[in-house]
Amino acid sequence: MSESTLRIGLVLPDVMGTYGDGGNALVLRQRARMRAIDAEIVSITLDDEVPESLDVYTLGGAEDYAQRLATRHLQRYPGLQRAADAGRPVLAICAAIQVLGHWYETAAGERVAGISMLDLTTSPRQSRAIGELVTAPIIDGLSQPLSGFENHRGATSLGAAAAPLGRVRRGVGNGAGAGVEGAVQGSVVSTYMHGPVLARNPELADYLLSKAVGTELEPLDLPQVDRLRRERLAAAR
Ligand code: GLN
Repeated sequence: MSESTLRIGLVLPDVMGTYGDGGNALVLRQRARMRAIDAEIVSITLDDEVPESLDVYTLGGAEDYAQRLATRHLQRYPGLQRAADAGRPVLAICAAIQVLGHWYETAAGERVAGISMLDLTTSPRQSRAIGELVTAPIIDGLSQPLSGFENHRGATSLGAAAAPLGRVRRGVGNGAGAGVEGAVQGSVVSTYMHGPVLARNPELADYLLSKAVGTELEPLDLPQVDRLRRERLAAAR
């Protein structure tokens, strides 16, 4: 491993790996390597402290119980919070949005304190939100519609410091009545989209990668990736 290797943190895949979101780390590594940027994935499990010095972090979705184990671990080892404070990009999917907020209530109605990296809270919906989700991004640097698969019970309300990632065109999204999806605050981008989201939305992948390497990136011409993106958007209509 050289000094210039891009280090991608895959945070707690042992408990937050249920929905295949570990693929986001693979996409970041592949898109870096295709630009001749040396990159590696660092898996951080429940046996490890959370390092604060990696270049970019990804966290995936999980069931309520696994989510709680992850929350406790991130409280005990606050490397992720320090990394985000230092401006390192973090991608948080589904359960991870909830864990990174102030608190979330489980489907059983129990309130669990989160790690307050995001100004938001989550309470259970009447019914589970399951299906294709399409949004129009509303943050600078993204212009293509985003798509993914949502599967959650929690409904997330954003506070003033968290901006939504997109406006819902199809599906439920955050589900707290505002017609928006995801949350962006400082260097943290979070979304309810599984897929993995970065495989389906290459523009979002490069948005995070560019922040991780600290430079603009040349676009990649990958027809099969664009075909997947269009095909998933069409399927959601
Ligand atoms: N357990 C959480 C919920 O149902 C998150 C689920 C997920 O990560 N897909 O809201």
